[in-house]
Amino acid sequence: MTLEQLQTHVQQTRRDIVRMVHAVNSGHPGGSLGCAEYFTALYGKVMDYSTDFNMDGIGEDLFFLSNGHISPVYYSILARFGFFPVEELNTFRKLDSRLQGHPTTHEGLPGVRIASGSLGQGLSVAIGAALAKKLNNDDKLVYSLHGDGELQEGQIWEALMFAAAKGVDNIISTIDYNGRQIDGDTKDVLDLGDLHAKMEAFGWLVLEEKEGNNLEKVIAILEKAKSETGKGKPVMIILHTEMGNGIDYMMGTHAWHGKAPNDEQLEKALAQNPVTELGDY
Ligand SMILES: [Mg+2]
Repeated sequence: MTLEQLQTHVQQTRRDIVRMVHAVNSGHPGGSLGCAEYFTALYGKVMDYSTDFNMDGIGEDLFFLSNGHISPVYYSILARFGFFPVEELNTFRKLDSRLQGHPTTHEGLPGVRIASGSLGQGLSVAIGAALAKKLNNDDKLVYSLHGDGELQEGQIWEALMFAAAKGVDNIISTIDYNGRQIDGDTKDVLDLGDLHAKMEAFGWLVLEEKEGNNLEKVIAILEKAKSETGKGKPVMIILHTEMGNGIDYMMGTHAWHGKAPNDEQLEKALAQNPVTELGDY
């Protein structure tokens, strides 16, 4: 897929996110929008996976979403890249839908490997999957995504320590470093301090990308991360993003972490992200 085609996906995914959340007047647009480039890079370029989904995932790369509340971007990407019909995005957060507000495995939605929403757990699961791949002599990789606010959960640090101590070097974990969380700026709620230094002190190989909403740069840092696997250390990407990216009034604030746009706000958001050749769901 060309860069231009991938950029089209980013724009269409932004539309999907705000339309889904608006339709049911609930959900999490801010973090979803900030990670549109990351997900597009991952599923459109970087990961080796099959849309013929099975839970074992042997012989393919795996992805685990730990900050499950950004399900709108996850669902849009899974649908747009062939895991299930895009029309199903219409069922987001509705009763009996496979697209629950926070992803679950119970509904059997293709592409979803763990329930997430309770923060701090996904890294442990991803590390377990990466270890299983090693035991199975499966040379594919495991990817995971985490919020920066999520790093305030203690289980994250247990997992970080474990992965380094056991040489789990087939995992690439990314921190969505937008500096915001549900209640405000992370530095005000519970400051993460020098995150880069802390991750390195925990034994991870740490990469950082300041332009996490620049698709080309996101692809490049993920490719760089891939080249650093298999060297004895787990790999971390600190990805600087903008919560609400691509919709002007949602940027520069934590206010849209978990809030739906009204009719007028939706129109504004869609006007800033015109429909693409992929079409609305
Ligand atoms: Mg955050």
